[in-house]
Amino acid sequence: MSRTAVVTGASSGIGAATARRLAEAGYRVVLAARRADRIESLAAELRGRGADVVVQPLDVTDRAAVEAFAASLDRVDVLVNNAGGAIGADYVEQAGPDDWRAMYDVNVLGVLNVTQTLLPALRTSGDGTVVVVSSTAGHGAYEGGGGYVAAKHGAHAIAATLRLELCGDPIRVIEIAPGMVRTDEFALNRFGGDESRAAAVYQGVAEPLTADDVADTIAWAVTRPSHVNIDLLVVRPRAQAAQHKVHREG
Ligand code: NDP
Repeated sequence: MSRTAVVTGASSGIGAATARRLAEAGYRVVLAARRADRIESLAAELRGRGADVVVQPLDVTDRAAVEAFAASLDRVDVLVNNAGGAIGADYVEQAGPDDWRAMYDVNVLGVLNVTQTLLPALRTSGDGTVVVVSSTAGHGAYEGGGGYVAAKHGAHAIAATLRLELCGDPIRVIEIAPGMVRTDEFALNRFGGDESRAAAVYQGVAEPLTADDVADTIAWAVTRPSHVNIDLLVVRPRAQAAQHKVHREG
């Protein structure tokens, strides 16, 4: 059976692009996300190109569902923890605890749930890889980022801790920390569907990263020889020299 890669949040953006890249690299891909119709149509596209694809509707915050998902898989070589996102851009003084809880749930506990339940299969593979898609928000703070920054620091902490704990096991732990990526839904979801607030995030930035740019780095890191562990890869657009240093034209 082919080497198998599980991609969470495969229904859009970076996750869908990563599934495309890993399918191209010869992996059987398992597409996991809540929107079944989206992963079904991606699966149809990939199968049309000869890929072996499994579709698995999944909410990564639902522990029982994740356990059932893990039990249903016969082989896992690569896990890409990509499901996640931001809610709002409120200052700490005004932020809603429910938004913070929801961000912690998906960005931290989601990674914990899926990683923990798939670790036995990754170990059995004899050559496993865990990828955590964190963010530059996992490495520095910015105004209005509070809840997302806290959650992505949590995702970073999981990757860093797990790499230490698994030293000696045949499992690599890779963290990919993207800066500004223009995907169709990330900013829209962050701002509750407000298109003008979402567009303002990228306003004047000549070339934010695309989902495929990030997928390319993920596929590159995953396809290095087994003994090469890309611990942490920070990837930003040229126009973003740092979280606060973004070149905007016009
Ligand atoms: P998208 O909003 O396009 O993708 C988020 C994905 O996560 C969707 O496929 C969504 O699918 C899935 N998801 C959300 N909640 C759950 C859940 N509870 N269970 C399962 N799947 C879930 O955003 P991006 O592609 O831009 O972001 C992907 C990752 O990259 C995220 O972790 C994000 O935080 C991170 N990132 C994004 C950056 C950006 O600028 N865009 C920058 C740095 C990091 P569904 O709704 O179908 O469940």
